[in-house]
Amino acid sequence: MSSISTRLISSVGPSRVSRHSYSPRRSLFGLFKARPNKSLAFQPQPEPPAPVPTLSPDDLFHPLAQSPFADLRERAERIRTVSICPVSIEKYNERVRPLFDCPDCGWPTHRSEERWREGKEEHQQVCGRLRETNEDDHDLRSGRRMVEFENMPREQPFDQAISFANWDTLFFTRNFPAIDSDRSVRHISKVLTYPMTVAAALHQNGPFTTRNGRVTREGRRSMAALHSILHLPPGGNESTAPYTPQPVVRIIIMGARAESTLPPIHWQQLTWMFPRSLFHIYFVGPEAGLPMLAANDPRRKTNYEFSERDGWGCPAHTLHVSNRLSITSLRAHYEEVHSQLGPFDPYTDVFFSFSPGLGFPHQPGRKTAVSTEEDHWGEVTTQPLVQAQTTWRLTLSKILQTKCPIFFTAFSPLDLQRDVSALYGTNPPSFRHNSKEREFPDYVGLPTAPVEHIEGVTDEFELIITPGKNEFGSLKWDIAEWDVRVAVKANWGLWGIRGKKYEVVEGED
Ligand SMILES: [Zn+2]
Repeated sequence: MSSISTRLISSVGPSRVSRHSYSPRRSLFGLFKARPNKSLAFQPQPEPPAPVPTLSPDDLFHPLAQSPFADLRERAERIRTVSICPVSIEKYNERVRPLFDCPDCGWPTHRSEERWREGKEEHQQVCGRLRETNEDDHDLRSGRRMVEFENMPREQPFDQAISFANWDTLFFTRNFPAIDSDRSVRHISKVLTYPMTVAAALHQNGPFTTRNGRVTREGRRSMAALHSILHLPPGGNESTAPYTPQPVVRIIIMGARAESTLPPIHWQQLTWMFPRSLFHIYFVGPEAGLPMLAANDPRRKTNYEFSERDGWGCPAHTLHVSNRLSITSLRAHYEEVHSQLGPFDPYTDVFFSFSPGLGFPHQPGRKTAVSTEEDHWGEVTTQPLVQAQTTWRLTLSKILQTKCPIFFTAFSPLDLQRDVSALYGTNPPSFRHNSKEREFPDYVGLPTAPVEHIEGVTDEFELIITPGKNEFGSLKWDIAEWDVRVAVKANWGLWGIRGKKYEVVEGED
């Protein structure tokens, strides 16, 4: 298993959505997903026929099981197959499927109407977000013109500063066309969270500064190095800047999944927000998206031997999106391509990993369908290994040696705390005590004791961005199909580290 399969959020290519509405079905936890999905990366997007709305804006709520859209009906079916009725298990110790759809949110939630009534109070805590997600997902498929995805802004004029305070100021200072509803903002944020999180972390006007304490003293050195490449010198402007070729800034995204299947135009936002920079994005991971090529396509390869000239030794694809942006996808475990990506330079190379789940329990040999593994539930009795100790360990130690910055996101406050505590070897967040709103049900055996020293990782890094909220997280809930009470928001939080630099001090005793 790779570092990547461990992403807690997985995606599947959109099935029935308009060309603008990137809307992967997501399920939480790698363990409920068997293998890499065919992705839609880089596929030519056919012009759709003139849209004929199927649903009107006041007709967006439908029980998933009776949705007019097949993929939503299938989602309901999967939930009925993989999840269990919470009241039945917690009150009656019965493992039974939820065959009853809550009339208020339209998701399969309980064994029967009776059990639903019994659990209504607890369910109220999540019913609202389930309802919102239901309507959002019907809206995306409704066939309406997705105006919020049209006419997205391109080049940012040199003299117009971008404000990275939050989504609203970003939309305003980037001149996004009117985005007139919370729903539109949710749709956009779900798609743009990946490029905008990267942009906000790297930009000199970004929300992470020494003033607000998010950039540490050590972080200043790393960020100054990156800014010197990404931005004009202080006081410089377009006409005074020397027109010399810029070094390419490499953004290496490990454990790439959903983000690698975004239409490349969304990643172009980066080049438009950094008008003088050249970028090469690398999506690396066993579930990185690759173009689907027909069996008789001459570009289709079955042999991916490594060669000096053009082979990575793994399924790979490079797309030159523009003269300032290239995107390479490498379907491999990061550690397998690390040496080929080197040498590394902290001025131009930066790593990202979206929701790596460092502090989440290791999932050995992810089960293909937990639905058939009833006795899998609630078995964890000892302290589990976390993914930072297993699938991520080698990758992390290699990256820390490069001294390049690495930024992680997390999907909730507790997820963030778990990841941070895993690398520091400190106490994981206690999730049982403030249990009114549980992030995960108790049968998910989260770590409860500090993670032991991880060779090459613990004590080998400096904090460069302190853990905290990421203003450019997705605003849309992702609901777990194995337990619809569990919901997260992609990239809710962000933090950054860098390999420790050992100063060589001579002449001291
Ligand atoms: Zn409900």
